[in-house]
Amino acid sequence: MPILLHDTSGHRPDRPLFQPFEPFLNVAMLNPFDDAHWMRQALNQALEARDAGEVPVGAVVVMGQTLLGKGHNLTERLHDVTAHAEMQAITAASNHLGSKYLTEATLFVTLEPCVMCAGALYWSQIGRVVWGAHDPKRGFSRHGPLLHPKTVIEGGFMAQESADLLQAFFRARRRR
Ligand SMILES: [Zn+2]
Repeated sequence: MPILLHDTSGHRPDRPLFQPFEPFLNVAMLNPFDDAHWMRQALNQALEARDAGEVPVGAVVVMGQTLLGKGHNLTERLHDVTAHAEMQAITAASNHLGSKYLTEATLFVTLEPCVMCAGALYWSQIGRVVWGAHDPKRGFSRHGPLLHPKTVIEGGFMAQESADLLQAFFRARRRR
């Protein structure tokens, strides 16, 4: 809505005296909580995993501008092959919402989910899944449509950052 000021100079009162400058309005409407913002949060989770000696994969579950859950790979610390980043983030988000369904939420994860995590995402009926690096070996996507039919998917988003992190981690591990 344009701002209507008092008319003191013969302007028609139904016309705004002050017309906001268009580019200024566009800047004001930029969303600081865009996909890149949330993928950076997932990358921060991946860094936490790396620093703990875990394979660096991180995830967040988000609804609108609200972080519902976050997590990173914990398979080493928990001695649990199911402790993938997505599983941590899904569980945290469901606890946060008090609901097993995440139909309005988006999962951001730095690596393409595996078949196990795709199964969990299917059961959660999550609204959207965005992942960073593709995983040609263990990724779910080459196994057909494993996610819920209503789930919107986007792969390869900010893929380079995630891939660089994984490659550096495995390079360092081979050197040891
Ligand atoms: Zn997984």
